[in-house]
Amino acid sequence: MSTTFKIAALAGDGIGPEVMREAIKVLRAVEKKFSLSFQITEAPVGWAGIDATGKALPDATLALCKQSDAILFGSVGLPDRDPTIPKEERPERAALLRIRKEFGLYANLRPVQLPKALAHACPLRPERQGDGIDILVVRELTGGMYFGQPKKTEDYFHEEPQADEGATVIMRRAQRAIDTMVYTTPEIERIAHVAFKAASLRRKKVTSIDKANVLENGVLWRDVVTKIAKQYPDVTLEHMFVDNGAMQLMLRPTQFDVMLCENMFGDILSDEAAALAGSLGMLPSASLGKATGELTFGFYEPAGGTAPDIAGKNLANPIAQILSTALMLRYSFGLNDAADAIEAAVGTAIAAGMRTGDIYTPAEATAKKVGTREMGDAIAAAV
Ligand code: NAD
Repeated sequence: MSTTFKIAALAGDGIGPEVMREAIKVLRAVEKKFSLSFQITEAPVGWAGIDATGKALPDATLALCKQSDAILFGSVGLPDRDPTIPKEERPERAALLRIRKEFGLYANLRPVQLPKALAHACPLRPERQGDGIDILVVRELTGGMYFGQPKKTEDYFHEEPQADEGATVIMRRAQRAIDTMVYTTPEIERIAHVAFKAASLRRKKVTSIDKANVLENGVLWRDVVTKIAKQYPDVTLEHMFVDNGAMQLMLRPTQFDVMLCENMFGDILSDEAAALAGSLGMLPSASLGKATGELTFGFYEPAGGTAPDIAGKNLANPIAQILSTALMLRYSFGLNDAADAIEAAVGTAIAAGMRTGDIYTPAEATAKKVGTREMGDAIAAAV
């Protein structure tokens, strides 16, 4: 009996539609090669959603996602579009954060690998790259400062002492912005389990990132992660303050296997780790929610954003979007062979010297500068 996997494809804004087109091309090649059946339905999101229906996450798009087995997402947000639209209705909050909350996507997995053939694209000197960089950042995605309440900007009166040694104080109307960081034990426990399980299938080391020297949240994080570690005796746990973690990523990235981070630290460190792979255009991500029956519901997207600077010019690297489909096949559908085939096809295209602008250097004699479409064609053909 063959299963039809239902995929909601939400391309979004900027380079989203260009890279999504290539990812679907590759999925169709995989479908043919492995005799699979993908029901791929496209729907607007982001500014495309606002233009179509007035909402960044149109009701019909959300309904489609709910009927699907996984969401394949491009990216949303165009910083220069209509500043009069309030923050809550803009795509980053109204679409992206809403989907994460709606589907309980609490675990974000961002693999960062530097293929040997792209060593030149890494900003670090070769001796710092060791035998290759291979890090999995596991980021908690639905807690912490991005969601904690209260979250607001409010007016207050600021007392401003004057030059007459404090005799006169002027009350000035000012504003203060408040964000709140909240983590509960169960939230930390479940993301820690994801990190330890992932590490036990890799090089068996978890580096837990926190700021336990300053934040109450950091103390609780460290305490809970230490307790969960006892259930995974084959995995080594180390703790690292986030500022040191940021530095160590640049100094000795090969020391890391799995980095376990709360939401904001993971956001920042995963982009920093991404730089090691040479380009955001190379990096996929998976956001996982609860398993229902055989399938784990997941949301798969490139690590980068809408790249307005290169959108619509056939310049974007589609590999991040294409590798995101591989993660979808592996984590949500359990199609490991098909996922491996996509990753191998990306490797083949890279080895053949295919380079979009972000990973191209003229110093590589055998490299060929190609566009988004040509890279997608080469990968689909390799599949
Ligand atoms: P960005 O990731 O869009 O771009 C940063 C740099 O990386 C740019 O120079 C861009 O050209 C390059 N880049 C990114 N993806 C690339 C690719 N596939 N190929 C080649 N180069 C690539 O970040 P930004 O400029 O800070 O943000 C632009 C918009 O994207 C903002 O509105 C932001 O909110 C949004 N954004 C959305 C998501 C998302 O939807 N998940 C994530 C990050 C940023």
